[in-house]
Amino acid sequence: RELYGVQRWGNGYFDINSDGDVVVQLRDGDSTVPVSLQKIIEGLADRGSAMPQLLRFRDLLDRRIEDLNESFLTAIKETSYQGSYRGVYPIKVNQQQQVIEEISEFGRKYNYGLEAGSKPELIAALAYMQDPNAYLICNGYKDDEFIDLALRAIQMGIRVIMVLEMPSELPAIIARSRALDIRPELGIRFRLSTKSEGHWAESGGDRSVFGLNSPQLIDAIDLLKSEGFLDCLTLFHYHQGSQLPNIRAIREAATEAVRVFVSLAQEGAPMEILDMGGGLAVDYDGSHSNFASSCNYSLKEYAANLIEVVQQHCDETNIPHPTLVTESGRAVVAYYSVLVFNILDVTRFSQPEEPAAPAKDAHDMLHNLWEIRNRIDRNDLQECFNDALFYRDQVRDLFRHGVIDLRARSAAEKIYWHVCTRIAAKAQLLDHIPEDLQTLQSNLIDFYYANFSVFQSLPDSWAIDQLFPIMPIHKLDTEPTHRAILADITCDCDGKVDRFINRDGTTTYLQVHDRQPGEEYNIAAFLVGAYQETLGDLHNLLGDPHVVSVGIEEGEIIYTHEVEGDSVADVLSYVEYDPKDLEKRFRNFAEKAVSKGKISAKQRKLIVDAYRNGLSGYTYYES
Ligand code: PLP
Repeated sequence: RELYGVQRWGNGYFDINSDGDVVVQLRDGDSTVPVSLQKIIEGLADRGSAMPQLLRFRDLLDRRIEDLNESFLTAIKETSYQGSYRGVYPIKVNQQQQVIEEISEFGRKYNYGLEAGSKPELIAALAYMQDPNAYLICNGYKDDEFIDLALRAIQMGIRVIMVLEMPSELPAIIARSRALDIRPELGIRFRLSTKSEGHWAESGGDRSVFGLNSPQLIDAIDLLKSEGFLDCLTLFHYHQGSQLPNIRAIREAATEAVRVFVSLAQEGAPMEILDMGGGLAVDYDGSHSNFASSCNYSLKEYAANLIEVVQQHCDETNIPHPTLVTESGRAVVAYYSVLVFNILDVTRFSQPEEPAAPAKDAHDMLHNLWEIRNRIDRNDLQECFNDALFYRDQVRDLFRHGVIDLRARSAAEKIYWHVCTRIAAKAQLLDHIPEDLQTLQSNLIDFYYANFSVFQSLPDSWAIDQLFPIMPIHKLDTEPTHRAILADITCDCDGKVDRFINRDGTTTYLQVHDRQPGEEYNIAAFLVGAYQETLGDLHNLLGDPHVVSVGIEEGEIIYTHEVEGDSVADVLSYVEYDPKDLEKRFRNFAEKAVSKGKISAKQRKLIVDAYRNGLSGYTYYES
C-alpha cells in the first residue's frame, strides 16, 4: 500500500485487500463495498473478453459530481454567499456518450450543465439538455451554423450562453440574431494577465490563444452598446489552463477576474454569471504539492477560496454576488476509468543467479571477468565495476576481430550482468552511491512487455510526461522483488512508461513481482478517465481496447455497457483500406500460389481462413 502510494492518490476509491488484490470501493445500496479488480478481470476472462480492458466505474463519476457540487454548496452556506454554484462539464475531457448521459442524469439534482467547444460537441450536448435550469456554455469558434443552432435552442427554452472567444464573433452573432429574431445570451472570455504554473500554463496569461484582451473587451462592450445588445451580456469567463497545481495562482487569477466582472457590471451589463473555467487539478502522484502532477489544495479548499475571493470583491463594490460556474473536467472524470493490461514477456538485466564458470580453455578475458566475483566483498565497488566494464568491452572487441565466437561472448555477458547485479546490490548499502553505480542500478531495471499501447491509452504519458499511478493489481500479499519499466507492444522506442509513483515520490522503475513464462500478471494504470481516450491515436494500428462499465448490486459484480475494442478490420478501414477488398486480393494471391504448386487447395483454405480470422480479431495480443 505504501510502496505504491495507493492511499495518497486513491482518494479513498482504491485500496489493497488482505488477499493482495487492488480493490475499488463501490456503492452497493447504502454501503460501500471493496471490489477486487482481479476478480473483475477474471469475470471478463470467463466471458471470453481479452486484455487489455478499460474499466469504467459510473459510481466514481457520480461521487465526483457529488463531491464537486457539495463542496461549493458547503462553502456557500458557510460564508452566507448570496449567489449559487452551477457547474458545467466540458465535453472535450471525455466525450463518450456514457459519460454525457450519466452526467446529465446524475447531475440533474445540482442543475449541472455542459460546456461545448465545437459544433459536434454542441450537437451532442443539445440532445442531453433536459434540465431548463442547467447551462449550456458554448466556447470555441462559432460559424453561422453553430450560432443558428444555439439561437434556436434558446427559443426551445434551453439556457444556451454563447461565449465570445474572438472579436469577430460578435458582429456575426448580432447579424444572425437579427436575421432569426432571437435574442442571444452572451458571455465574454477574457485573457487574464495572471500567469499560472503546470503543464498548461500557456492556456492563460497575455499570450494565451483564446479570449479577448482588455482593449478588445472594451471594443466589444462599445459595440454591444451601440447595437443595443448590452442587455444580452450576462457571463464573464476565463480559463487559466488545466491541472493548476497551486492554489495561490488560482486565487490571484480569481481576484483579477472578479475585478473585470465588476467593471462589466459597472458598464451597465446585467452580469449574472462568473465562469471560472477548468483547471481544478487531480493529485495524480498523491504528494499534495505544487508539482505538475499534483495540487496543494483539496476540492473543499478550491471551492472555499473561489467563493471567498468573489464575495470579498463584490461586497467592496456593492455588486450582487454572481452565480459561480466552473468548467471542471479532469477532476470530475479522471477517477472514472482504469486501464488493465497483462504482461506478455520479460527481459531481465539483473542476474542474481550465478552463471556457469568459463571453460578451462576459455579466453583469459572471460576468466578475468569471472574472477571479479570473488573480489566484490573485499574491493572497492567502483574498482570492481571499472574492471567488469573494461573486460566486457575487451570481450566485445575480441568478438569484432573474430578471436572469440558468439557463444563465448554470450557467456561473458552473462557473467558481466551477474557481477553488475551483485555490485549494484552492495552499492545500495553505501551512504553515498557514486554516480557510475547509480547509473548501473538504473541499467539493471528489467523490461516488462505490456499488452497495450501508450499512444492509444496513455497519450499524455508519452506527449507531456504526465505521471499516472500504475501498479500490479494482484499478488500484493507477497514482496515485489524486481524493478521494471513497462514497454508497450508498439514497436516504437517511445512506447514505454519509465516514471512511477512510489513511497518516496517518483522513481524510474516499477516494483514488480517475478513472473515466470506463461504466468498471469496484470497491471493497471489508474486515473485515466480524463483526456486519454480521445487523445489516443492509432500508432502501429493498435486500436481502442475493450471497454466495460462495472458496478455492484447486492454483492454481485455487474458488467454493463460493454463496448468491443476495435477489430483489425476496423483500424484498417480508419486508414482507408477496404477489408473486403483486402480479403479479395489475398484470396487471389493464394489462388496464384495454388496454381504455381506452392500450396495445395486445402492449404489455401486454411491460410484464407486465418487471414479472415485475423481481420475480425482484436488488435492486441491474444493469448
Ligand atoms: N474549459 C476550457 C475552456 C478548457 O479549454 C478546458 C481544458 O483545458 C476545460 C474547461 C477543462 O479543464 P480541466 O479539465 O482542467 O477542468
